[in-house]
Amino acid sequence: MDCAMMEKPINLSTSLSDSGLLSAKDVTALRSSGVGTVGDLLKIAPLRHEDRRRFDNVPSQESAVNVCLRVTIKGTKWNFMGRGRRYFEAVVEETSFALSPRLSCRWFHYPAISRILATGMELILYGRVKRFGKTLTMVHPEFEIIEPDSRGDSIHLERIVPIYRKKGGLSQRHYRELIWKVLSSGAADASSLKQFFRDLHFPDTMEAAADARRHFAREECFYLQLSVLLRRRELNEKKGLVTVGTTHLVRDLTESLPFELTESQKECVREMYRDMKKPVPMNRLLQGDVGSGKTLVAICAMLMAVEAGYQVAMMAPTQILAEQHFNTCQRLLDPLGVKVALKTSSKTEETLGWGRSGLDSEPEIVIGTHALLYKKSTFSRLGLVVIDEQHKFGVEQRERLIDKGEAPDVLVMTATPIPRTLTLTLYGDLDVSLLREKPGGRGRIITAVRGEKALPKVVDFVRAQVDEGRQVYVVSPLVEEGDGERKRKGKSAVSESEEWKNWLPHVEIGLLHGRMSGEEKEAVMNDFRKQRYSVLVSTTVIEVGVDVPNATIMIINNADQFGLSQLHQLRGRVGRGELKSYCILIASHELSDEGREKLEIFEKITDGFDLAEADFRLRGPGDILGTEQSGLGGIEFPEWLYDSEMIVEARKRAESLLDRDPHVSREENREIRANLMEWRTRVSN
Ligand code: ADP
Ligand code: MG
Repeated sequence: MDCAMMEKPINLSTSLSDSGLLSAKDVTALRSSGVGTVGDLLKIAPLRHEDRRRFDNVPSQESAVNVCLRVTIKGTKWNFMGRGRRYFEAVVEETSFALSPRLSCRWFHYPAISRILATGMELILYGRVKRFGKTLTMVHPEFEIIEPDSRGDSIHLERIVPIYRKKGGLSQRHYRELIWKVLSSGAADASSLKQFFRDLHFPDTMEAAADARRHFAREECFYLQLSVLLRRRELNEKKGLVTVGTTHLVRDLTESLPFELTESQKECVREMYRDMKKPVPMNRLLQGDVGSGKTLVAICAMLMAVEAGYQVAMMAPTQILAEQHFNTCQRLLDPLGVKVALKTSSKTEETLGWGRSGLDSEPEIVIGTHALLYKKSTFSRLGLVVIDEQHKFGVEQRERLIDKGEAPDVLVMTATPIPRTLTLTLYGDLDVSLLREKPGGRGRIITAVRGEKALPKVVDFVRAQVDEGRQVYVVSPLVEEGDGERKRKGKSAVSESEEWKNWLPHVEIGLLHGRMSGEEKEAVMNDFRKQRYSVLVSTTVIEVGVDVPNATIMIINNADQFGLSQLHQLRGRVGRGELKSYCILIASHELSDEGREKLEIFEKITDGFDLAEADFRLRGPGDILGTEQSGLGGIEFPEWLYDSEMIVEARKRAESLLDRDPHVSREENREIRANLMEWRTRVSN
C-alpha cells in the first residue's frame, strides 16, 4: 500500500509540524507567535486586501487616504540632512503610465533599505502621499517587491491579494504563500467553513472577503459570549456569604460628609447592598469616569461588610494610591471606630479603630498594593475584596486575592473608558454598576494643544495661577535624559524639574518618579497635598487615582507619545474641585499625523466613554485596553466588538444554548464544546 495513503488526512486541528506542508523553520517561526495548528493559521485574518487587478494613479496632490501604487524605481540615493543624519530615497514612477508624476519614497533610520531596493525594480507601494515643497513623497510606505516570476499566474498579483500583520518575522510574500499552500492542501475541505476560509484569504471579490469576515466575527462573538456567560453561571452556583447588616455605619459615614452622595453613587450602593445580602458571591464592576467618586462607593460597601463582621481587602495598583486610600479611610473611618491597616512592600501601618470585636483585634479593612498578594497577609474572615483600577491588574492577581477568602464578595473598579458594547462583552461575567454623573459643582476642564514654542506663555500662565494659590502637575514621558534612546524620545522629569526651577525661581517645585523609593514618593506626594509644593514635576506615576482637588493645571510634555486612555487618566487628575481647570498638551517637535489626529480628538472630547468610542473607531481596541490585561489578545475580528446588534444576537444565542444545556455537555453540542475550549485557550494566552 502507498505510504501516503496511510497517513491521516490533514484537517484544521492537525499541528503544522505534522501537516508536512511547511518547513521546520516556518513551523518554529509560527509557533513562536502562538500559531500551532492548521486551524490557528487559517483563522488569522489578513489586515486588509489589495485589489491588484487595478492600481491607483500617483496623485498630483497630497492624498487624504492611503493609495496603492504599482511603480518602477528610477533611481536611489542617500540624502544628508546635516549633523550626520541621512535618509534613503527611491524615486519612482508608475510602471504603466508614461506621464506619471515622479514620487520620492523616503526611509529614515533604516540603513538596510539600501541593500533591499535598487533601480529598475518594480514595487507595489501602499501609503499616503505628502508634499514637501514641490516634491510629492511617501515616507516609509509599505512596499512589496514584484519578483519577475510574479507576473502571470500568481497569488501576488492580478488578483485580490491579502496583506497580513507581520508574524514570526516571515515576509509578506512568504507568509502569503504559506496560507495559499495550506488552503490548497485540502486541510479545510472537511470543514463547513471551507468557503469562508478561502474567501477570508483569497476572495474573488471584496464583498466575499467582507462576508467571510462577518461570518468569523459572528462566531468569535458567540464564543466569547458563551464563555463569559458560562463563567457567570458557574459563579452564581457557588455558595457565598451574607455580608450586610443594618447599614448604620453607612449612615454614620454619609452623615459625617460635608456633601451628599450623588444619586448615581446612592444607586450603586443600593445595587451592592442587594448583591451582598444574597448568599451568592457578589461579582460587580463599578465603572465611572475619572473623578466620579468611586472610592466613596467602595467605602460604603466596605462598611457594610465590616458591620456584618467581615474583613475587607482593598488593592490598588500603586503605592501612592494605596496610601491615598489609607489616608482617606483613616480620616473618614477613625471617627466610626473602624480599624484600617495599610500594607505595601515598604510599610505596614494601622489606624486606632477599636474593631468590631475588641481593642486589639485584627484590622477590619486592609488596604495595600500587590504586596497584599505576596506577603503572608492572612485574613480569618475575608468577606469583601475591592480592586481599584482593576485594568492595571491581571486576572491572576485578582484571583489570588480572592482566594485569600472563601468565596468573598468582589467589587472591581475601573475608569478605563471602554466602549459600552465592550463592557457588555469583556465583563459579561460581572454585574456592572455605572456612575453616570459626576458630583456637582465641579469646575470645567479646558483642554488645549500647544507646540513647544508656546512654552514661555505656558510658564507665564502657570506663574499667575500659582500666585492665586493653585497647584500644577507637569508630566513627562521619561525619568532621566537618555532613558528613551531605544523606545521613545521625549522630555525627562529630572531635567524638566530643573527647567521649572529656573523659570519659576520663587516657586517650590517637587519631583516624583518611579525610581524613587516608596518613602520618598510618599513624602513628596504628602508635601504636594499639603501645598508645600506648587508644582509637581512627575512621570506617569501619578497617572491613576491621585486626588488633589486644589491642583488645577495638568501640563503633559510630548503628549502625542501617550495613549488616549492614558491622557484621559492624566487629565482626570485636575477638575476635581470647584475651580476651573486646564489640561495643556505640549506636542513633540516631530509630531506625526497620527499624533496630531489623536491630540485633536482629545482636545474636543472630554467624556471618557465618548473618547473611548472615538478612539475605538479610529484604531480598534488595541490602544484603549492596553495589553494582555484586556483579555483581548486572541481576538482576530475586532469589528464585532463594536457591533452591539451582533453582540446582543450572540448573547441570546448563547443564553438559549445554556438554558437547554447548562454545561455544554450534551452530545449534540460536542462541536460547540470543542470550539469553546479551543477559543478559551486562544484568548487566555
Ligand atoms: P474616582 O472615581 O476617580 O476614583 P474619587 O473617588 O477619587 O474619584 O473622587 C474624586 C473626588 O470627588 C474626591 O475628592 C471625593 O472626595 C470627591 N467626591 C466624591 N463623591 C462626592 C460627592 N457626592 N460630592 C462631592 N464630592 C465628592
Ligand atoms: Mg479612583
